[in-house]
Amino acid sequence: MADLDGPLAPGGSVGILGNGQLGRMAALAAARLGYRCHAYGPEENAPANQVSDAFTVAAYDDAEALTRFAGAVDVVTFEFENIPLATVELLESLVPLRPGTNVLSICQHRLREKDFCRSVSVPTADYRPAHDLAELRQAVEEIGTPCILKSAELGYDGKGQVRITAAGDLEAAWSAMRGHAAEAAGIVEAVVEFRMEISVIVARGSDGAMRTYVPVENRHRNHILDETIVPANLSQEVADRAEAIARHLAQEMNLVGLLAVEMFVTHDGKVLVNEMAPRPHNSGHWSIDACITSQFEQFIRAVAGLPLGSTERLCDAVMKNLLGEEVEDWRKILTDPGNKLHLYGKAAHRPGRKMGHVTRLIRR
Ligand code: AMP
Repeated sequence: MADLDGPLAPGGSVGILGNGQLGRMAALAAARLGYRCHAYGPEENAPANQVSDAFTVAAYDDAEALTRFAGAVDVVTFEFENIPLATVELLESLVPLRPGTNVLSICQHRLREKDFCRSVSVPTADYRPAHDLAELRQAVEEIGTPCILKSAELGYDGKGQVRITAAGDLEAAWSAMRGHAAEAAGIVEAVVEFRMEISVIVARGSDGAMRTYVPVENRHRNHILDETIVPANLSQEVADRAEAIARHLAQEMNLVGLLAVEMFVTHDGKVLVNEMAPRPHNSGHWSIDACITSQFEQFIRAVAGLPLGSTERLCDAVMKNLLGEEVEDWRKILTDPGNKLHLYGKAAHRPGRKMGHVTRLIRR
């Protein structure tokens, strides 16, 4: 299928696979640019459906529904990675897809992701593949303990991860990982003693132009992002290196869209890539309130073939996720007129579920 023939005109329709909060905030940004969004996903009352012009409630492997969806939109993108490759391949044969299947294929599989980083000389933690228990034993012997076994697919927020210590039972670790993703291969990673976890979001337009957001610090609780501190407290040299890595990865994948790159900064100033996500990212939510162009607008601009906007940061910020029952504090949060509250329209909260976020702007 041919790519978009120039910028998508106002009134055009952007199809988004996935209908969570990222799709919701992308749809709101798209509406401001005069586009209509069509969300696709298995749930009916989902965050993105509530604010989209149209939505399809169907499974990701429903070829008929996907074909109808492709016929109703001008361009398709996705707001999360755990979409079967066959789904995006089908869509890509029918309608322009940005970013392309190649990008999704790399970013949805931790082994392919790390192999890709290695192939373009981007540093990561030391790692080995583990396709079965024998390979796991070999990998742990080579990497040493402590190390981490992660499922190659379907992992996020620490799901499918097992820490392996010297006395650890490898069989138990293998079945714990398999319990999360039965068919998935594993990857064994050395534990990085990091000083800080950071991320950089880079946008790349259809003309190859790139813009990065400033590196931010991410603080996790129970493996889930809790707070993002903007900017990360890094030397200029380390910050520049982190941005250069993100640009290099986006360029080498020939990305059109957004790429969030999560990295560890070690005590001796090394920057190691942990994960990539080819879509808007939780650690970029602050940009809605603190940048000339938010990550969501930038995402839509790239996907629709518009020129990218400025990523200039107008002020510093702290973004706090509202996880699970923390969302109940919404009234209290609003008593401070400086708080920027964002709620995602999810009906029920469960422990750790991302219900909303609040951004505090810090005037420089
Ligand atoms: P991930 O799902 O890979 O983003 O991992 C979730 C969290 O686990 C990360 O944000 C880190 O806090 C921690 N983590 C993952 N991999 C490593 C590693 N190789 N070394 C140390 N901590 C890690």
